[in-house]
Amino acid sequence: MVDITDSINVQAISEGVSSARLARDLAYLAALGARDDGGVARLALDTSDIQARRWLTEQASTLGATASVDAIGNVFLDLPGREPALAPVVTGSHLDSQPTGGRYDGALGVVAGLEALRAIRDTGVTLRRSLSLVSWTNEEGARFAPGTSGSAVFCGVRGIDETRAIRDTDGLTLGSALDECLATLEADGIARRPLGTPMHAFIELHIEQGPILEAAGAPVGVVEGIQGVSWFEVTVTGSANHAGTTPRAMRRDALEGACALATSLREIARDEADCVRFTIGKFAVSPGSVNTIPDQVTFTIDLRHPKAATLESLATSFQRLAEQSWAGCEAMLTPLSRIAPVEFPASLTALLSDTAEDLGLKAPRLMSGAFHDAIHLAGHCPTAMVFVPCRGGLSHHPNENVELNDAVSGTRLLAASLARLCA
Ligand SMILES: [Zn+2]
Repeated sequence: MVDITDSINVQAISEGVSSARLARDLAYLAALGARDDGGVARLALDTSDIQARRWLTEQASTLGATASVDAIGNVFLDLPGREPALAPVVTGSHLDSQPTGGRYDGALGVVAGLEALRAIRDTGVTLRRSLSLVSWTNEEGARFAPGTSGSAVFCGVRGIDETRAIRDTDGLTLGSALDECLATLEADGIARRPLGTPMHAFIELHIEQGPILEAAGAPVGVVEGIQGVSWFEVTVTGSANHAGTTPRAMRRDALEGACALATSLREIARDEADCVRFTIGKFAVSPGSVNTIPDQVTFTIDLRHPKAATLESLATSFQRLAEQSWAGCEAMLTPLSRIAPVEFPASLTALLSDTAEDLGLKAPRLMSGAFHDAIHLAGHCPTAMVFVPCRGGLSHHPNENVELNDAVSGTRLLAASLARLCA
């Protein structure tokens, strides 16, 4: 599927990565949609996001690449190879942010990809396969939910019409915001490209958004896959009555039942390896009166794990618990949604690990706890990810921070790996 070729001088390519250019590009993007607190609010398809796309397309000419945009607004920069008929190797991430976002979530992957293309071009070698950089539209889903719109539509996971119909809180559709973006790029002379074009491989660099690499003192990590997630809603039903007059034996207190059930659910999800992620993030008590016994409690469960089989067996155990009586109350567990885990191909993760070793970079393996565009690309072509640590594991926050040295290490690994895939 993926060849490792040693004809590529990975050392020369890696040394071509410029920390000054990387820092300059990151600072430029951080100014687009900058917040007073140092963070970034560059919401999908808003003025600053469109400005960021224009900036990206402007990088094409000095790079010797061609810029283009598809029907969902994904922007591509294509650096032609010696055999342009072959499927390209692709890297990239997203330029949109959370409303109280940081400077690196998404932006680092685009900037690192751009710098990787420059470092490869600077060696003067034309690789066999073409190499492309992409910025996917609306990854965050903060303005238009759900997110990962660009990659999902590109890969045929979602339809373009249903995606265009999504509205933001002002009632504006994604389609109308998209048309404004596409018109701006068209006026700039950016060509249109088709959706779903074949790819030889896709590698996304992203900040870890978790604490593992920083704790390991590693500048980069090789991501083995993206854990799956199941959402549930639990409703516990009892009887409302007077808080002062109802004796214990005659109570059916929905909150008492819900607390006991929630504790049992949490216990059953506890694993020795600490791979299960179990979260109750919403808990609603009804009728919500100080002197009335609650008759209904509704709470949610967010359950995550790298293995589909574990998610399934936990769902079965949850269901069995819900069928029991809790403080005399009935419980009902409803599955809300489920996204299957993704395992990246071993050939690609091995290429990343081997390349990290060749470059002298400590690169532990880890799973991604968060979703990324790569989850859709994994169904389109061989896909993998590189993580760069962020301070305190903090993300989706104005204080999100990445050490420039780590960003450079990640870009070096990315550039060398992309070159090997293109060889
Ligand atoms: Zn992201």
